[in-house]
Amino acid sequence: ATRPGSTPREVATHCPYCALQCGMTLREDDTGVTVHPRQFPTNRGGLCQKGWTAAELLDHPERLTTPLLRDPASGELRPVSWDAALDRIVTGIRAIQDDAGPDAVAVFGGGGLTNEKAYALGKFARIGLRTRHIDYNGRFCMSSAAAAGMRAFGIDRGLPFPLADLGRADTLLLVGANPAETMPPLVRWLTEQRRNGGQLIVVDPRVTATARQADLHLQPLPGTDLAVANALLHIALTEGWVDRTYVAERTSGFEAVRRTVAAWWPARAEQLSGVPVADLEATARALGTGGRVIILTARGAEQHAKGVDTVTAYVNLALALGLPGRDGSGYGCLTGQGNGQGGREHGQKADQLPGYRKIDDPAAREHVAGVWGVPADDLPGPGVPAYQLLDSLGTPDGPRGLLVFGSNPVVSAPRAARIEGRLRDLDLLVVADLLLSETAALADVVLPTAQWAEEDGTMTNLEGRVLRRRALRNPPPGVRTDLAIISDLATRLAAAETPTTEAPAAEPASTTAASTTATSAATASARPEAVAAARFPADPAAVFAELRRASAGGAADYAGISWARIDDQDGVYWPCRTEDGPDTPRLFAEEFATPDGRARFHSVDHRPAAEEVCATYPLHFTTGRVLTQYQSGTQTRRVPALRRAAPEAFVELHPDLAARLGIDDGDPVKVTSRRGELCAPARLSVGIRPDTVFAPFHYAGAGRANSVTNDAVDPISGMPEFKICAVRVEKA
Ligand code: SF4
Repeated sequence: ATRPGSTPREVATHCPYCALQCGMTLREDDTGVTVHPRQFPTNRGGLCQKGWTAAELLDHPERLTTPLLRDPASGELRPVSWDAALDRIVTGIRAIQDDAGPDAVAVFGGGGLTNEKAYALGKFARIGLRTRHIDYNGRFCMSSAAAAGMRAFGIDRGLPFPLADLGRADTLLLVGANPAETMPPLVRWLTEQRRNGGQLIVVDPRVTATARQADLHLQPLPGTDLAVANALLHIALTEGWVDRTYVAERTSGFEAVRRTVAAWWPARAEQLSGVPVADLEATARALGTGGRVIILTARGAEQHAKGVDTVTAYVNLALALGLPGRDGSGYGCLTGQGNGQGGREHGQKADQLPGYRKIDDPAAREHVAGVWGVPADDLPGPGVPAYQLLDSLGTPDGPRGLLVFGSNPVVSAPRAARIEGRLRDLDLLVVADLLLSETAALADVVLPTAQWAEEDGTMTNLEGRVLRRRALRNPPPGVRTDLAIISDLATRLAAAETPTTEAPAAEPASTTAASTTATSAATASARPEAVAAARFPADPAAVFAELRRASAGGAADYAGISWARIDDQDGVYWPCRTEDGPDTPRLFAEEFATPDGRARFHSVDHRPAAEEVCATYPLHFTTGRVLTQYQSGTQTRRVPALRRAAPEAFVELHPDLAARLGIDDGDPVKVTSRRGELCAPARLSVGIRPDTVFAPFHYAGAGRANSVTNDAVDPISGMPEFKICAVRVEKA
């Protein structure tokens, strides 16, 4: 990133990647932009390789610096002016919506977008496009933990306590979490915890880098985490470790849970999961007799068609032991994406409005519509979760146009080949991204966006702490911020003529993705006067000011959070209701966010994976991450040092299984499921169960793990079953 003659300058900001949002300082001088670790309460001066190399994308040769439009004659993407690109998009939107109604255009966002962008995108979908179809890739990330938190605690904040509490825990149980590879600086807290005499227990089907550091590693069959949790609670009950006073005074619904877990005697759980009874007993003892105890889940437990119930089983365990709200103890979820927390609070989800409000709540609609300056009746109703939306694209009942911001579903969606086909069937696909991702490569229009070091804004980390993202420099010529793009599109839609024909109602079936709500069926596409009234500023400070008003009174209340206060406090924890009132580092000390203030148990029981192994597909397949890649790899696969460290996909399998299949280390292998196949070199490891194979999900092409994964979804959260399906493996 060289700018000869530029004035040296620096800003304190945060890493663009994961939800740990490590503090870093960016410096720019004549030699370029350099990254320097910064003392921040979460990373304490640590960065992983991804953070260290983040600036390398700023002037990357593959960076997009001009809009691209698909040429109908050649079928290729060609550089065009912004006016030409935006005109094409607005013309396309209007043609589709005039023909098929407002819900025929959808929006797909991302968990890496700033709070301001997530907010603006939700508003743009509901007011600018008048569509109910907006959702985002966070649905594929932590939506099961979010739903479980909502139903148990009445609120969803990944960690309801500061991350520093991990260092003080006597017992720390990590379920399906591998921070040593996904968030390496977090390991400092684990090290501190054990230095203080604490015990670390990891539940994971693989011997991960995190599991290797554990005092005890439970290695269950994929898809049996729920049974493990119920067995742990069974033991706690039997041994008298349940906190009866806490259960009586602070919770409801325990009796049904007690009856369910009574059937999960340890030997039964061992038979199902493969975890020895002795290990279950040792774990339960550590949890039940420890002083400060923390239970954390992550994607390994959550990315299942029973993900909400699996997380709920661990929440039940935490509640029965009296942990949530107790100093130094509790349950939490390690959110993954950079703004996975904030991205789910401001209206980017199909069923939500800003402030974590429900879109079908009349009071919530009134409040948000008031901030937006439109009648509440103008707001569309709820849409459908991400996979259902993607799978409906281009079908007779589904949206025919899609605007994608900061997401790459061609690589990240389950059953990816099918979703790729859906995207190809669209009349209009618009992708805003900084690089030509696999999804952007399919688009009709590609819009080049600014990077994290070129824009201001806020992010909310895994603790619910709102942070400042600060611009080091302006975007390069030809590039615009996502907020500017949303503003430009809204301006054009506001100027466009009102459709002369009333849009026809979509098909009447209420269960189809494109069926319109009572509200939107009766209205035409984007109404210029409403779009103009609502205003879509490109200035992030103006958007944040509006976001604060829209979130006021909601669960995720940002009303008292100003950028100046974030600067003063090293971040501000929501809810923060007034500028002179306190923020909330710890939740649940006095009460939970339910109507009666009590946490709610839910009885949950094990059920098999959506797809079980059989003679044709005899092995379990699971996915995950590697240290030097991030999400769909759009960015990290282009950073030379990261690419060298992890250049391609691989298939991890146990040597015993490999020997049975005649496969040597490094041999090309083919993994086949009912949905597709993945081809990559074999990597033999004794750290995986002999009945299970693993592949990282960062890669495209033949190594795309999501060609194989199952698109069965959790009925509550909409989370796909990324973490288990049935496959066969053979030498390619
Ligand atoms: Fe960035 Fe996450 Fe690595 Fe920290 S741990 S440097 S936030 S990718």
